[in-house]
Amino acid sequence: MNTIQSLSQLLAAGQASSVELCQDYLARIQTRNPELNAFITVDPERTLAEARAADARRAAGQAGMLTGVPIAHKDIFCAEGWLTTCGSKMLSNFVSPYDAHVIEQFKAAGMPCLGKTNMDEFAMGSSNETSFYGPVKNPWDTSRVPGGSSGGSAACVAGGLAPAATGTDTGGSIRQPAALTGITGLKPTYGVVSRYGMIAFASSLDQGGPMARTAEDCALLLNVMAGFDPRDSTSLERAKEDYTRELTPTPGARPLAGLKIGLPREFFAEGMSADTARAVEDAIAQLKGLGAETVEVGLPNSRLSVAAYYVLAPAEASSNLSRFDGVRYGYRTPEYEDLTDMYEKTRAEGFGAEVKRRIMIGTYVLSHGYYDAYYIQAQRLRRLIADDFTEAFKSCDVILGPTAPSTAFKLGEKADDPVQMYLSDIYTIAVNLAGLPGMSLPCGFDGQGLPIGMQLIGNYFSEAKMLGVAHQYQLATDWHQHRPALSEEKGVRS
Ligand code: GLN
Repeated sequence: MNTIQSLSQLLAAGQASSVELCQDYLARIQTRNPELNAFITVDPERTLAEARAADARRAAGQAGMLTGVPIAHKDIFCAEGWLTTCGSKMLSNFVSPYDAHVIEQFKAAGMPCLGKTNMDEFAMGSSNETSFYGPVKNPWDTSRVPGGSSGGSAACVAGGLAPAATGTDTGGSIRQPAALTGITGLKPTYGVVSRYGMIAFASSLDQGGPMARTAEDCALLLNVMAGFDPRDSTSLERAKEDYTRELTPTPGARPLAGLKIGLPREFFAEGMSADTARAVEDAIAQLKGLGAETVEVGLPNSRLSVAAYYVLAPAEASSNLSRFDGVRYGYRTPEYEDLTDMYEKTRAEGFGAEVKRRIMIGTYVLSHGYYDAYYIQAQRLRRLIADDFTEAFKSCDVILGPTAPSTAFKLGEKADDPVQMYLSDIYTIAVNLAGLPGMSLPCGFDGQGLPIGMQLIGNYFSEAKMLGVAHQYQLATDWHQHRPALSEEKGVRS
């Protein structure tokens, strides 16, 4: 299995060059992407130029640990010279003139970009079916969705088209697709990763994070992504952390001794499929075997999180998306009579149905007569939801539950039922509303051989601890090592 970690060792040992690694992945993208549709843009010349620069840096003795290891980026991150579409017709002609903070950080680390990954339009969705560029297929079963909105990133990692990828998570978009494709993904504490150059959906919830095969890889990637950036006013000014610091295996058979895992009774009450419930129960037993204790905790307001989110996120989106007016950049309707006609046609033609639905909801809940009844109420709920977590963390170190109510569903199955689609994030959304870190990692398979994910939720800034728990679980289990049959990495040196 290729991980960021193992590829870094290959490069350090001189057993492969960055150019060779990138060529192997580009070849796999060429053969596998037409079916998976995980990438919107690949640009081999650009990737190989970055790989050559990484090899030169290594030859000059200036390589960092990840220099030369390739990565794919969600098409929500502005990357200089790359088409950056956010999955929308509205930005289908937008070549970014600048780099997002996250992209700058990966460039500084010397990690070549393999391409820009497909996603739900403006990150609105849970199945990758709202993309202007067509749905992404799940590598475990191409008649099924990979989850969303970071579905392209999830599918390319699960399918062996990239060793890792970036994602963003507003209500679950890193964790839910990670669960549905059997990979590991982490959404950091709000404010840990800069949103500068990350196209805004709901600014008070959006957060970038890593998607990879292991917790260890997520820790290495978070070391690159995290950090203060004065260009994002909600970026947190904190000392640089080493997110790998709790990965060192504690000697002995009980590495998690002393750890208290909170099990929210609301998460286990109803809604989960039987296979998911069984896999999560098995994971709990496994963690207990490693020394952890469990305590029951309550998140009584979490049942209201989907309702609160679908007021707050559309409200913020309706404001953020007002910038797409056909004047400054992006799509403009070819024929129009006057300015108003140009705005109307541009927005009518440039946005897809789900984005329009969100703009309408958002405009409605912010309107004069309804602001108090909806928006203010939802803000109050958000506070109650966050307070529940604060209370719960008084008696535990991490919270554990399922990531998604079911495994990957069929393409088209929920496309006409927005409420069913919105419920895909029932276990993930409260975490964004509270601004907490959360991650998903593989913990089993259902009767049809589809991956199941479990979620860990940490207290503010406890990413390192959460990653440490996930790492111990991955040392003791092999769920994260299972690959879909089609992802054999024969071409890739290992
Ligand atoms: N599925 C949720 C939505 O559609 C969350 C998306 C996200 O996290 N970007 O809004």
